Amino acid sequence: MTYALVLNSGSSSIKFQLLDPNNSATDEPFASGLVEQIGEPLGRVILKYGGEKHLLEEPIPNHSVGLNRAFELMSEHGCGPAQVEITAVGHRVVHGGILFSAPEIITDEIVDMIKDLIPLAPLHNPANVDGIEVARKILPDVPHVAVFDTGFFHTLPPAAAIYAINKEVAGENGVRRYGFHGTSHEYISQRVPELLGKPTDEVNQITLHLGNGASCAAVRGGQAIDTSMGMTPLSGLVMGTRTGDIDPGIVFHLYRTANMSIDEIDTLMNKQSGIKGISGVNDFRALAEMIEDGDPDAWLAYQIYIHQLRRYIGSYMISLGRVDAITFTAGVGENAANVRADAMAELEMYGIKIDPERNALPNSGPREISTDDSTIKVFVVPTNEELAIARYATELAP
Ligand code: AMP
Repeated sequence: MTYALVLNSGSSSIKFQLLDPNNSATDEPFASGLVEQIGEPLGRVILKYGGEKHLLEEPIPNHSVGLNRAFELMSEHGCGPAQVEITAVGHRVVHGGILFSAPEIITDEIVDMIKDLIPLAPLHNPANVDGIEVARKILPDVPHVAVFDTGFFHTLPPAAAIYAINKEVAGENGVRRYGFHGTSHEYISQRVPELLGKPTDEVNQITLHLGNGASCAAVRGGQAIDTSMGMTPLSGLVMGTRTGDIDPGIVFHLYRTANMSIDEIDTLMNKQSGIKGISGVNDFRALAEMIEDGDPDAWLAYQIYIHQLRRYIGSYMISLGRVDAITFTAGVGENAANVRADAMAELEMYGIKIDPERNALPNSGPREISTDDSTIKVFVVPTNEELAIARYATELAP
């Protein structure tokens, strides 16, 4: 059996999966794990393999040590690079700017280009580069492929991609809408035409990636024409801890009158806002329990979330003109039936009718949750970004 290794490197963590690219979205990976607390006094490597969980705790000063320890732990338990044939390594890269519209085989030149994009994603791209450089040293003979979170949104028309901000300043600083979660939106928007039994280029759809981060996209004939995340992943829908769209004047107000630094405002808006900022929790399971207990802040957070979600769905319906399908995915989209029901409530006059029984079924594979006579079909399709990255990496590997 041959596998692809997928790496998702963050500033203090590396997530890894070893998986068969022919898996379905709901199959468990062959092995998976996490290196966390890189650079802190005590780091951890967690490996899930063969139904067991293995743990290593020790200081992990950098990504190089982290990835090497992960490989050692894999080798110790029988799934290391010498025991398993790895045919390609797929790297999730957050920002591809306007340089990358599709996955690329990684060369020194590609690494330099990803480094050039660091000003656009100062928290993410440096970690992605670290992961690539370390993995290329450990597995020099295997093709490495970069898959960009922004790639799918290269087709955005100028009216959706360009902000109404001074064009010289925007041009000099790379200010425009790039969009994120592209791997997931692309994966979903390719699955939906199969479910409809129609060619991709005939399907207009709205894809809703509702996880801890959340974004939506309008996709016409397989090409993205709009998306809710922007130059950064902060804009658009209300998220677990991020604000989504807010008046940018709030930033100036907090800076000038609350004496907050730009870094503090950045942290506030990315980590202490969204559902968490209103209710105190960012997980929808905890939120549902609080709502059941009558907590007014939890109820308000939920209402704000649904309000914003419906706004986007409505605007994308108008942008697309004709809509064939609306699809929910990711942790919240796949599991929270109440979110789906409330997002789609009272839209019969637009041709959307949810079947409550279908909607209440537990998460499984791709499924329709609309009634047979709903003109716009509503689906739940489990996403799997690692699997999509593994497939790209395998397809591109020579
Ligand atoms: P993701 O970013 O796609 O991994 O989604 C993670 C989020 O999904 C969590 O923070 C929860 O809010 C949500 N989630 C996961 N499982 C459930 C569930 N069974 N019911 C409701 N929400 C869930």
